[in-house]
Amino acid sequence: MHGKILNTSFDALVIGGGIAGGEAALNLVNNGFKVLIIEKDLSIGGKMILLSKVFPTLDCSACITTPKVSEISRHPGITIFTGSEVRKIIRKAENSFEAEVIKTPRYVIAEDCTGCQLCEQACPVNVHDQYQYNLIGRKAAYIPFSIASPRVAAIDIENCTLCGACEKVCPTKCIDFTQETEEYHIKAKTVVIATGFNLFDPLMMPRYGYGLYKNIITSMQMERQLAPTRPFNTILRPGDGKVPDKIAYVLCTGSRDVTVGNPICSQICCMYSIKQAQLLMGALPMADVTIYYINIRSFGKGFEEFYDQAKGMGVNFIKGKIGRISEKENGNLIMRYEDINENIVKEAEHDIVVLSVGVLPNTDSAALFPDGELKLDPFNFVYQTDPLASPAKTSIKGVFVAGTASGPMDIPDSILSAGAASSEAMSYLIRK
Ligand SMILES: Cc1cc2nc3c(=O)[nH]c(=O)nc-3n(C[C@H](O)[C@H](O)[C@H](O)COP(=O)(O)OP(=O)(O)OC[C@H]3O[C@@H](n4cnc5c(N)ncnc54)[C@H](O)[C@@H]3O)c2cc1C
Ligand code: SF4
Ligand code: SF4
Repeated sequence: MHGKILNTSFDALVIGGGIAGGEAALNLVNNGFKVLIIEKDLSIGGKMILLSKVFPTLDCSACITTPKVSEISRHPGITIFTGSEVRKIIRKAENSFEAEVIKTPRYVIAEDCTGCQLCEQACPVNVHDQYQYNLIGRKAAYIPFSIASPRVAAIDIENCTLCGACEKVCPTKCIDFTQETEEYHIKAKTVVIATGFNLFDPLMMPRYGYGLYKNIITSMQMERQLAPTRPFNTILRPGDGKVPDKIAYVLCTGSRDVTVGNPICSQICCMYSIKQAQLLMGALPMADVTIYYINIRSFGKGFEEFYDQAKGMGVNFIKGKIGRISEKENGNLIMRYEDINENIVKEAEHDIVVLSVGVLPNTDSAALFPDGELKLDPFNFVYQTDPLASPAKTSIKGVFVAGTASGPMDIPDSILSAGAASSEAMSYLIRK
């Protein structure tokens, strides 16, 4: 059931409000173009706003993201639709696209919400917190996370019991259960796809025991434990709340592995694992950290030095292929692995295992346009028709790709890619 249908027009439609989409939008608006960002989540900032620090400088990720995010959200030339998705986009002619966008209700009047969190405190319903990657719970009435933009509550209607406790305590009376889905018909002259990437789901590798053994977590779950907006004040293993002292990383989980259908390198896992290992040694000075790897790919500027720095700090690197992980009664984990240098099978015990999960394509992008008009590459990322000379060009004239929507890359490369996409989009807009 849809409420009103609203018509509106912009110069550029940017799909995805992560760092790539945000950067592309800022470049466009600072050159005088009117931009609409469509973000399917409740906050802009993508994955970057949830990270701890960034390799290889160890600058605080939130401290870099939040000023950018606030510049984007305050700019008068940028309109942001959160909780929204594009149903379809049709290319009508040169400089003419028409998009149908669905905006799902937040059940809170955003302009009136002060972010006081009283609704959150009153709500009796507990569910998993997706922004903390299920490490803790949240309420059905909730602010997505403390540095969310907008920092406005939302009601998770699927889990809400309609008890009314939140409405009673809200000081501005901004909870509104009568809100309906809105449909927008949008005209735009160019489109930037910045829908980002998905993380590999380690449930697809049962031999690692993720989902079965509580003390096996993903790298994103460890990233949240190390972030300034972390769920606990220290690092804990989820099984029993123990502070771990023997931590293992399994690199290339779901990357470079034909058996799970993903033969390519994710480009970021080696470096983010080395980063987390260094941060863990700071947070837990007595802990042992071991990284099991196939090859360390420290290809970027300052990356090899960063790797050396980790070795110097005492991180153990084992060139080893993990065969199987099993659990002991005390929750510790036994890793059975092939030591590649010695060519023998060994076992080692750790009290927490972090799976360095890989980058997968977000296949949402293909469904944005009708009949396969937007071509994908063999790995299902957005196909770049001219990757060497014009990397932002796609199979549709006037549609450009930014960031990890076109393949795995780190933050600096996503920002560079967004620069290329916005420049191409501007040349296209000016050329007419
Ligand atoms: C554990 C971990 C640690 C990392 N650490 C580092 C690091 O230290 N340094 C570094 O350089 N990089 C790091 N990275 C990589 C970094 O997260 C990415 O390079 C960066 O997030 C890519 O930005 P993006 O905008 O392309 O994609 P994303 O961050 O994925 O953003 C995409 C946005 O698009 C939205 N979206 C998706 N589909 C749709 C749709 N259909 N409609 C509307 N909106 C949509 C999403 O909700 C999201 O907001 C790390 C990654 C992980 C997983
Ligand atoms: S009405 Fe829903 S969101 Fe509000 S307090 Fe009750 S369960 Fe929570
Ligand atoms: S919805 Fe009301 S109670 Fe909840 S954060 Fe906003 S102003 Fe506060």
